[in-house]
Amino acid sequence: MQITIIGTGYVGLVTGTCFAETGNNVVCVDINEEKVKQLRAGKSPIYEPGLDTLLERNIKEQRIRFTTSITEGVEHGQIIFLALPTPPGKDGSADLQFVLDVASQLSTIITDYKVIVNKSTVPVGTAEKVANVLALNLDRSLFDVVSNPEFLREGVAVEDFLKPDRVVIGTNSERARKLMDELYQPFVRQGNPIFYMDERSSEMTKYAGNAYLAMRISFMNEMANLCEKVGANVDMVRVGIGSDSRIGKRFLFPGVGYGGSCFPKDVKALAQTATEYDYDFQIVRTVMKVNDRQKTILGKKICEYYGSDLSGKTFALWGLAFKPETDDIREAPALELIDELLKAGATVSAFDPEAMDNVRRIYGEKVHFAESMYAALEGASGLVIVTEWSEFRNPDFDRISDALVHPAIFDGRNVYSLEKMEELGFYYESMGRKTVH
Ligand code: NAD
Repeated sequence: MQITIIGTGYVGLVTGTCFAETGNNVVCVDINEEKVKQLRAGKSPIYEPGLDTLLERNIKEQRIRFTTSITEGVEHGQIIFLALPTPPGKDGSADLQFVLDVASQLSTIITDYKVIVNKSTVPVGTAEKVANVLALNLDRSLFDVVSNPEFLREGVAVEDFLKPDRVVIGTNSERARKLMDELYQPFVRQGNPIFYMDERSSEMTKYAGNAYLAMRISFMNEMANLCEKVGANVDMVRVGIGSDSRIGKRFLFPGVGYGGSCFPKDVKALAQTATEYDYDFQIVRTVMKVNDRQKTILGKKICEYYGSDLSGKTFALWGLAFKPETDDIREAPALELIDELLKAGATVSAFDPEAMDNVRRIYGEKVHFAESMYAALEGASGLVIVTEWSEFRNPDFDRISDALVHPAIFDGRNVYSLEKMEELGFYYESMGRKTVH
């Protein structure tokens, strides 16, 4: 099939590459010339496991190409995906400017029937809005607008896209449904479902999913905070409840708050939709409040231990990305912690396997970026773990205690066992468990 993707970011690039991988002919459009240049040279501008190999193969087989020309893209594709940013506007609602601008451009280029697919996360009613913009210049028989939210997780995006738990397609058009079905069949061969529904339900499904997951995280974070106070171990509680099949084991890990490009903005946007419809969505508002507080907890623990004036002290930070296996730092809890540490006068020596360039762009010289996880520890008064990259799980603890001025670890992800920390003699604070000293 002839497929066009407009917006070649995390979602667009993975979508385009995976469609090419199943034999389709894909054109990816982006306004960022630098990105397009890099992609044409076969280099992925983002870090996503497995993506490089697929990209290389499909470029070689000429099943995917990249352009800055929207006209070229539109002429090519029968199905046109919009994988454009939908950042939070001033009031927290999703800003549809990128999506509606492109829809307006499409309306002047399209000459034969196209399916326009909203892949971006967009509020209820957006499919209608896009259709109305298109209809300003086009006969309605020349297009259908479909909602097809994306559920991939950064870090396992390729795997998620190739083998999705489910595909959600919102459309009332039989013609569009047939085309979408043909396109997605190769991805559901193992028997996972494609759910067809109306556009509004499909748009809401994406927000409901993300808000529910964010709520689970906030719930466990509050549970962890309470466990610390009552002397319970949240990891025991986690496995205790997770084995109940109604609850399930996944997504129950306490930490330093959710971040990333999706949860924070989607939860905000859902709250804003509720406000627009005069509904007080109390749980969602609380989830946001709890998360804001949770992001400050590591900083608080550090200041309680060392005092609020941290001048003259260096802290080693392991992990900057909002989660492992990605270089994405959007709304990452590490950034908030860096701000707090710098404000308290500390020096920050950071290490992350993938995200350091992105953080350097924000902080420049204000943060020291170490060459290795061990180099970050040199002369530090404590180690702070913010992201649970695999390589932090079994480190050489002798090297850690030799390098640190003071053997203290503040672990925002419960990476180490309390027994191990006790045995090694570290001062160790984690989330929802007793302090080891
Ligand atoms: P992104 O910022 O990584 O990518 C967006 C791309 O669109 C950029 O490359 C940008 O240059 C390009 N762009 C902007 N304006 C353009 C225009 N007029 N024409 C062509 N290209 C243009 O964003 P993303 O993370 O891929 O997210 C895209 C959408 O998908 C958002 O709505 C997001 O909420 C949703 N989503 C993201 C994820 C995720 O994990 N990142 C998962 C599911 C859904």
